[in-house]
Amino acid sequence: MHPAAIQALDHAHVWHPYAPARTTNLPVAATDGIHLQLSDGRRVIDAMSSWWATIHGHGHPALVAAATEQIGRMSHVMFGGLTHEPAVRLAARLADMVGLPHVFFSDSGSVAVEVAVKMALQYSRGIGHTERTRLLTWRSGYHGDTFAAMSVCDPDGGMHALWAGTLAEQVFAPAPPVGEVGDYLHRFEMLIDATVAAVIVEPVVQGAGGMRFHDPALVAGVREICDRHGILFIADEIATGFGRTGELFATHGAGVTPDIMCVGKALTGGFMSLAATLCTAEVAQAIPTLMHGPTFMANPLACAVAGASLDLLEAGTWRADVARIEAGLRRGLEPLRDQAADVRVLGAIGVVEMAEQVDMVATTQAALEEGVWLRPFGRLIYTMPPYTCTEADMAQICRGVAAAVRA
Ligand SMILES: *Cc1c(COP(=O)(O)O)cnc(C)c1O
Repeated sequence: MHPAAIQALDHAHVWHPYAPARTTNLPVAATDGIHLQLSDGRRVIDAMSSWWATIHGHGHPALVAAATEQIGRMSHVMFGGLTHEPAVRLAARLADMVGLPHVFFSDSGSVAVEVAVKMALQYSRGIGHTERTRLLTWRSGYHGDTFAAMSVCDPDGGMHALWAGTLAEQVFAPAPPVGEVGDYLHRFEMLIDATVAAVIVEPVVQGAGGMRFHDPALVAGVREICDRHGILFIADEIATGFGRTGELFATHGAGVTPDIMCVGKALTGGFMSLAATLCTAEVAQAIPTLMHGPTFMANPLACAVAGASLDLLEAGTWRADVARIEAGLRRGLEPLRDQAADVRVLGAIGVVEMAEQVDMVATTQAALEEGVWLRPFGRLIYTMPPYTCTEADMAQICRGVAAAVRA
């Protein structure tokens, strides 16, 4: 199809994220490694890792091989009453990596958060605390777009006003401080009352809620507070998991294991949708029947690819890769500091925060002219590159970010 024909049909019929029904989008014909091949013939670096998922680049041969091998055998079966090798292998490895024995598979990050919330509420009932019906979180968070997930997103950024009367009312602490911890944890703890079942946060990096970083000591502090009150600690590692921050999991970097953890995004290396909610034996034991069961739960194809992605991570080169990317981001983004409100880098995450809202069309266009695909939002121009980016790729990505900053 001609690119213009794709755009016309897209405009007529296809709804895109966070948008009205009719929008104009850029057709992609194919992917190779870190690149997107646009239908108009241009080839650009996917500096977003397609929403933070394609950590090994697109079409990694090991992942393609796993998918090909699995699809010939069995692409899907229902998970009620049936099981299969790709799921049990993946669950055992995740349990081992994360340090939580029970794994509930689902088909997206938002659903993994819904499941985590159900686990926390059912656990509270299971231990006789039926009055514990709310969650405590800090502002500036993002946990997904379904209703329970939205209820713990930042109330302003997540437009809670739009949903007044339909969203569960949760307890919100101020956003975690980006610098000194001060008495933040004390004030956080004061918000816990008899109705709080669990704390849910994104550890160390708040993603779509503002790309803010905080001291891992806060994560360790939240763990202690939860223990003190006998409530659960849910870590949403959907964005931070699998090496993005420079640690395999951000909670592990903070020296703690949560009671419940959500993973998604990079789980299949960006090949297809799969997420998981993991929990302790104690949580599992208190829940007679977990009331959830997606049709495509533990899809064998997705599980096989996720297994291959974990193989690549277990080979261990990601540590040096993420360190190289971090160095490249510091080198390339630091010079932009005098044109921005803030520049921050952690692991394979580089953020330029502007003083004003950015013009999404103009910034995207400017980066594309440097051969880089970015998707700025709010006041943020940021990149989360695939771990396979070389130093030269990083220099190009930073030129793309610089062009967006000037736009
Ligand atoms: C992306 C994201 C989600 C939602 O995942 P989806 O797969 O988009 O539903 C939840 N939590 C965090 C921290 C995320 O970054």
